[in-house]
Amino acid sequence: MMQLNVNAPVKYSVYISDMVDDPNKVLLQAFKKAKKIAVVTDDVVNSLYPEYFGKSLCGRKTFYYVLPHGENNKNADNYLSLIKFLSEKGFCRDDGIIAFGGGVVGDLAGFAAATYLRGMTLVQYPTTVLSMTDSSVGGKTAIDYGGMKNIIGAFYQPKCVIITASFYATLPKREILSGYGEIIKYAFLSGGTITEKDITGVFTARLIAKCLEIKQRIVEADAFEEGQRRLLNLGHTFGHAIESLSAFTLSHGECVVKGLYLTLKASEKLYGIPRERFDAAAGLLTCKGHDISCGYDIEDIQKALYHDKKYDGEKLKFVALDEKLTPVITEITIVELINTLR
Ligand code: NAD
Ligand code: ZN
Repeated sequence: MMQLNVNAPVKYSVYISDMVDDPNKVLLQAFKKAKKIAVVTDDVVNSLYPEYFGKSLCGRKTFYYVLPHGENNKNADNYLSLIKFLSEKGFCRDDGIIAFGGGVVGDLAGFAAATYLRGMTLVQYPTTVLSMTDSSVGGKTAIDYGGMKNIIGAFYQPKCVIITASFYATLPKREILSGYGEIIKYAFLSGGTITEKDITGVFTARLIAKCLEIKQRIVEADAFEEGQRRLLNLGHTFGHAIESLSAFTLSHGECVVKGLYLTLKASEKLYGIPRERFDAAAGLLTCKGHDISCGYDIEDIQKALYHDKKYDGEKLKFVALDEKLTPVITEITIVELINTLR
């Protein structure tokens, strides 16, 4: 088992293994003071791994709260239902929550843990490629509201994160590709430690650790997204624009890869990336089978960019790649950015 210690702004450990290691010891440590535990999951995960932790985890009475799956269920109604469930079952601050599932479960259960009685003990137990390599670490929790993604949320750190790569085995191909969209982003942020071979090879604890080490470094430097953490937004400016133009019919990771390709093209104009380096980078984007074509008119992308959260009415905070493909945070007008793609 690998262990990563994150210090942002409270300390917690991330335990990463290839196969299921008995989690009881780690959970017992996390839930020292708990008398009850709520496992929050979704219906798909629950049907594949029913009552995964049993009825009495670490000797604590264990309740299961099953959400319907999918992004449109990361909403206020389901959040309030979970709060109601916790209060009806008599949960106290010292009791625990395990977020067992993908990023939707992690974000919603994390936000409930952050807010119920002003904060319960939270363990993230991710089961998708995206949540194992990205969303379970960093302390961002949120729900969607009024058609806006992650509009209500909090920074709230888990007590620990337990990751087992073997949950990969039951994931549908589309979810795998979506998660690899973020892994490819990490490859660009890694300065060469995540290679094309890692991306085309087997999904392992080692690869998860490589992604999370980058995230750890960035969130430790900037826990509340005031500066460096914006690097994690690489590919996301265009990615989010494409995601909203597709009315969310494309997955987040699919859009991130398309967004990375547009970022590469814009960066080539801004910094003059040598041809060979450009081609190698484009190769990294397609090596897992992602479609990098944008599929939308540049004018529509431009309109969508005006709704970007990182647009301040004048300039956009945009993560570009310099001539050495090193990610750099820039400020640019939307017109200037769009002109690089014409
Ligand atoms: P998801 O949670 O919707 O999971 C995708 C699908 O996979 C779901 O249908 C789920 O039921 C199913 N699933 C989960 N584990 C499975 C398994 N082992 N086998 C088979 N099926 C399984 O989606 P996601 O991609 O994990 O997460 C996306 C969410 O994460 C978004 O809401 C996004 O906003 C959020 N996110 C949060 C952060 C953060 O820092 N908090 C970062 C990135 C993304
Ligand atoms: Zn993302």
